[in-house]
Amino acid sequence: MTESRLTRRRSLERLGGFLVTAIGAAGLKTDSSEGAGPAAVASGEVSCVLTPEQTEGPYYIANEALRRNITEGRPGAPLLLRAFVVSASTCNPIKAATVDIWHADAGGVYSGFGSGAASRTFMRGIQRTNAKGLALFRTVYPGWYQGRTVHIHVKVHLGGNVVHTGQLYFPDAMTDAVYKKAPYSSRPNRDVRNADDSVYRNGGKKSLVSVKKNSAGVYVATITMGVHRS
Ligand code: FE
Repeated sequence: MTESRLTRRRSLERLGGFLVTAIGAAGLKTDSSEGAGPAAVASGEVSCVLTPEQTEGPYYIANEALRRNITEGRPGAPLLLRAFVVSASTCNPIKAATVDIWHADAGGVYSGFGSGAASRTFMRGIQRTNAKGLALFRTVYPGWYQGRTVHIHVKVHLGGNVVHTGQLYFPDAMTDAVYKKAPYSSRPNRDVRNADDSVYRNGGKKSLVSVKKNSAGVYVATITMGVHRS
């Protein structure tokens, strides 16, 4: 190892230590905040369990844009994803975690691959959690692709480490309702539902979003992800 690499490594280690300290302090500050935390767990508002790790699959692209709206104008039923990140050991919200999501568009296509290869960015984006542990994304209800049930891929990064890789799922009855309408209705029926999905079967039930359609016609999907800090 060269001297400069050693120096760089040392400064990264120092930076790492600083980040852990900063996040630790932020964690203490949010202990009594509303939204998540033990009180929210007691009330049933938040379930504090370790969210199961699931494969990132073949379509991950790192370092996507920091943006809330990831649709790039592509069609679909508007979906607001509310992703809460909490500590699986304390149930407290984790502030300043980076949440990275990617999913197929309404036509079942991923940017960067296949017929979506011309663009490497639609339906991909990154948001940082606020003091309540919340990261918000504006997107569309994902379309299906062959061999998989409907899902959104997710990674949670903390202090430069990936602390969670998983997939979020949708209640089948909700998907059935959404897919009755354009643009989803022009495609054949999906070939796999949650119970038959090889990835969902390994704990996917814990990553099922709760979805409600609001008065503006937006599907609001909420999930709480319990992660370990390292
Ligand atoms: Fe996928």
